[in-house]
Amino acid sequence: MRYITAPQVHNGYGFLPSPTVIAVHEDGSIADVIPLSEVPGDASRIEQHEGMLCPSFVNAHCHLELSHLYRRIPEHTGLVEFVSRIPEVRKEDNSVLIREAVLEAARQMHDKGIIAVGDISNTTDTLGVRDRIPLHMHTFIECMGIIPDLAGKRFEASQAVYEAYKVAGGPYLRRATIVPHAPYSVSRPLLERIAAVAGTGVVSVHNQESEAEIRFFADRSGDLLQLYNALQIDTSRLDITGTSSLEYIVSGLPEKTPLILVHNTFTSEKDIAYLQYRRDNISLCLCPNANWYIERRLPDIPMLERSGFRICLGTDSLASNYGLDIYAEVLVILEHFPSIPMETVLRWATLNGAKALQMDDIIGSLEPGKRPGLNLITPDNQVVRLL
Ligand SMILES: [Zn+2]
Repeated sequence: MRYITAPQVHNGYGFLPSPTVIAVHEDGSIADVIPLSEVPGDASRIEQHEGMLCPSFVNAHCHLELSHLYRRIPEHTGLVEFVSRIPEVRKEDNSVLIREAVLEAARQMHDKGIIAVGDISNTTDTLGVRDRIPLHMHTFIECMGIIPDLAGKRFEASQAVYEAYKVAGGPYLRRATIVPHAPYSVSRPLLERIAAVAGTGVVSVHNQESEAEIRFFADRSGDLLQLYNALQIDTSRLDITGTSSLEYIVSGLPEKTPLILVHNTFTSEKDIAYLQYRRDNISLCLCPNANWYIERRLPDIPMLERSGFRICLGTDSLASNYGLDIYAEVLVILEHFPSIPMETVLRWATLNGAKALQMDDIIGSLEPGKRPGLNLITPDNQVVRLL
């Protein structure tokens, strides 16, 4: 048995009274979380650290398959320009290089104290991570296509990727679901196909990431329309009139299906009011560093916090971030919104991410029987894995 302590201990819910000691079995599972006075025997056996202890982090939104695009797309282009550049830089690299970049990024993520990831995949490029990096993974097989007649073809292609990922096994969780990319990139027939296979497994979707998305749905104008026109994609048959992008996607998916809405950069109080009817199975995932990288704008995080919806954190991809580092996301939120306490944001980074990915029975909080990992945050804000 190991006994570990530090001046501050966050158990996933909040800070515990000091001094608190975490008792850990040899296999990494939590035996107990107790006051120092209740530790049996010789107190010299206790590992005493400086700083703060918390469960390992959960990265609820990532695209490991884009790791080879690190620093290949400039900052502050806006989402439409960003998305339209990805295909051209993506095809410059071969699959060996792409898969090596995936493994290296997953390794770095693990070293940054992350124990689980919700990972978006369009391809099978991230399959190698599952055998080689000790991370729980929920792979979201991303489906997109706005031409209604091609919905069947697009869905079948995603199903083929899903077949490769759905095999479970090993000591780490391996789950997969087919998910829509974003409201503006999924036709109604395609959304219906995705909804038909959606059950009680979690579905993730990009939500209200740009002003262009809001305008496209409001009156079919703006940069997205121009992009589709430039690509000679006919948007006239898109059945989106009279709805916000949020309503379009959320109402198109079964009420029983838990959702992770990612980004929410342009989400308003009115949008949040709309979501109330299914608040129990919705998580709002924030990726502030990526929002800053692409749009130079952050969501109204204090408003989202006040709404009482479950908030979790993600890094998005190395194409739009400086690292896959959840603690860096914590720090940027604290810097921009000092009214939000560290205690709250650490809950977003740990337990709430585990709940969003339906993994909170084994990770996310320091509770007996769980194997949540353990991070030490040093006084100079470095993250060190202790378990
Ligand atoms: Zn994303």
